[in-house]
Amino acid sequence: MEYRCSDCPRRCGALRTDLSGSGFCRAPARPHLIRAAAHFGEEPCISGSRGAGTVFFTGCSLRCVFCQNREISRTVSGRTFSSDALRDLMLRLQDTGVHNIELVTPTHYTRVIAEALSKAALAIPVVWNSSGYELPETLRLLEGLVQVYMPDLKYLHAGTSGRYSAAPDYPDAVIPAIDEMFRQRGSYRMDDHGILQSGVLIRHLILPGNIEESRDVIDLVADRYPRGSILFSLMSQYTPMVSAEAFPELSRTVSPEENEDLLHYLRLRGLDDGYWQEPSSAGEESIPLFDGTGLDFSNKPRNNNSGICHENGISNHIQNHHQEVES
Ligand code: SF4
Repeated sequence: MEYRCSDCPRRCGALRTDLSGSGFCRAPARPHLIRAAAHFGEEPCISGSRGAGTVFFTGCSLRCVFCQNREISRTVSGRTFSSDALRDLMLRLQDTGVHNIELVTPTHYTRVIAEALSKAALAIPVVWNSSGYELPETLRLLEGLVQVYMPDLKYLHAGTSGRYSAAPDYPDAVIPAIDEMFRQRGSYRMDDHGILQSGVLIRHLILPGNIEESRDVIDLVADRYPRGSILFSLMSQYTPMVSAEAFPELSRTVSPEENEDLLHYLRLRGLDDGYWQEPSSAGEESIPLFDGTGLDFSNKPRNNNSGICHENGISNHIQNHHQEVES
């Protein structure tokens, strides 16, 4: 594969080949992976009791100053996968008994991922866990291949997205992107065990001192999508990992008062379907090890329900602090 890339809103036009890339994300066409294993740190409807089958890609088309996965998002590292190899890896991960295949930060590899998914015929939902900084035309490559969209809705103010993510156009991009996700999947649907089978789950990370923007995000979701059609996850786990000199306003966690204020507003606006966190969820212990776990399936025969890799400490920490939003 070799093409000039306009796959995300940056529209670099950079040349990408199977093994090299020169755009903002630096990513080649073929995906680079750093981990593929069961993960228990997501919302209960994603992690369930057997874990999400999480596939972590490296590189990113955003550059968030507070990124908790900066170890893998700032550079393209890990192992490269062809579409056939990626298909095989997803099938093997499915065999371990996970609830879904969750693709984390996949946007810059959409083309090869779509190819792999179209060949995989998975029996469990595919979850697209993305930044929301995406193009509708690129997302259309995934139609019928992805069952659950889980985008961030980080900002609605260009000043903030420019300062924190080097993307002043983020607010212009994210709304049409989520509209396209909703067009594809419609109202969310759970199975009898409370595992999300189809739909859109929007995540919003509260930033300290940025409560007005979070209110605007809540307003937008409440006003734009039919009540009860979309899941919303209000996250308070922000952990300061930035230079306090360059971003003094981000050098603390979210206060209980800020969290309480937004939780109250969430209820006021009727976003009753979703999750929220306690500010005490902040901390680096929820970050998995990016050590190549699960990438070497080459010598193992496929079998069913074998070897779920539990990440003790992560599941309890997050799940205990995710609460269903009560009206
Ligand atoms: S996916 Fe990467 S190369 Fe393509 S437009 Fe976006 S930043 Fe540029």
